[in-house]
Amino acid sequence: MNDWDVVIVGAGPVGGYAAYKLAEKGHRILILEEHGEIGRPFQCAGLVTPEAMDRVGLEHTILSRVVGAKMYSPEGLAIAIGTADKVRTHVVCRKLFDQGVVRLGLDNGATLWLDSTPTKVAFTESGVELTIDNNGTQRTVTSKLLIGADGAHSWVRRTCRMGKPREWMVGFQIEITGYDGDDEWLEMYTGRDVAPGLFAWVIPNGDTHRIGMWALPDDMDGHSCEEFVDNLMNHPLWRHKFANCRETARYCGPIPAGMVRRPYAERVLLVGDAAGLAKPTTGGGIGPGFKQVDLLQEALSSAIRQDSLSMRKMRKICRPLEQMRREQQRSRALRDFFVTSRSDAELHHHFELFAKPEVIELINSQGDIERPASLGIALLKEVPEFRKIALKAGFAMMFG
Ligand SMILES: Cc1cc2nc3c(=O)[nH]c(=O)nc-3n(C[C@H](O)[C@H](O)[C@H](O)COP(=O)(O)OP(=O)(O)OC[C@H]3O[C@@H](n4cnc5c(N)ncnc54)[C@H](O)[C@@H]3O)c2cc1C
Repeated sequence: MNDWDVVIVGAGPVGGYAAYKLAEKGHRILILEEHGEIGRPFQCAGLVTPEAMDRVGLEHTILSRVVGAKMYSPEGLAIAIGTADKVRTHVVCRKLFDQGVVRLGLDNGATLWLDSTPTKVAFTESGVELTIDNNGTQRTVTSKLLIGADGAHSWVRRTCRMGKPREWMVGFQIEITGYDGDDEWLEMYTGRDVAPGLFAWVIPNGDTHRIGMWALPDDMDGHSCEEFVDNLMNHPLWRHKFANCRETARYCGPIPAGMVRRPYAERVLLVGDAAGLAKPTTGGGIGPGFKQVDLLQEALSSAIRQDSLSMRKMRKICRPLEQMRREQQRSRALRDFFVTSRSDAELHHHFELFAKPEVIELINSQGDIERPASLGIALLKEVPEFRKIALKAGFAMMFG
């Protein structure tokens, strides 16, 4: 079969989810994946929020549950956010998770070609014509719509000249055995020497732990991610926790956390990392990608049915994404205010404010990984010291 309603490039979680939602509505979907298997290689800490998990029901892929975070200031002040009775996020096996999401698409009628990459795209009056290298054989297919779900370095985005994500972070992670930590709590470490401008993490992962860090390249001052993770593991305050650790795997990858200016064009849509949707506060990209697909699926489906996918129509379909863009910008501004643009001494002072019982209570009642901006704004409104600093920094608009 050579004629499809939609060709989706990339069988990651977001491409798989788009295939699932559109195939469920009866559209003929072809998914292309450059690798010979789904879910490998991956670069991910494996955190999937309950909200994202509810969308796909893949609980069998969960390795552990996380009820809270222990966060450490650069000087070692610890605060614990969370309560033992509420799961804040899940840690999944990414390979099984990605396979499960793509399987939902296939079970609803989508077709998957592995070892397949597009090499050329042409737009004709009747639709999209895509040339594909399918395991060494050149094939041509046509479709009404092309979806780029092909990750941070998206071929679709580059080939269709759709710009670049507005912010990039670099993330690095190793998997270790022998870590001395709690099973259901993730740990976050801050400080210029371990994760300049953001944080390093330790995530319980069933029998092992995932240790990683992420940062904006400009903040790394020429140092590598590996150096920062080494610094964390040899830090005088924390090295005892890592004393018996043995590394079993390592991953590194980009995190695009600034939505491209126009994630659509005539007969083209970018989703997930290809569109630059990861959260500036946590780097999580799976939840926002699922949310994006859900926001668009109804209008997109009826436009596919009517074969009405002009630039004007795509702009209208994608209008709900402006809310996601504003949310992402707001989260970034708050992240910069609380963490990224702070010196270690200022950050430590923020921790002293976070550590007050009334502030911990506020965070526990309003904290939601999916909506960090609302917590940030609540902190600015309710904590007088933050309010003072925010006003000084010209953050008056945040109180509106
Ligand atoms: C160190 C690190 C830790 C992270 N931790 C988390 C986390 O805990 N939680 C979270 O939600 N997010 C996390 N992220 C981000 C997360 O991995 C991504 O946001 C998520 O994978 C995006 O999904 P996607 O489907 O858009 O893209 P991807 O997962 O990148 O999938 C893209 C797919 O397209 C395929 N592809 C690419 N190019 C082509 C091509 N030309 N032709 C055919 N196929 C192609 C790829 O092989 C891949 O299968 C992390 C990222 C890093 C780097």
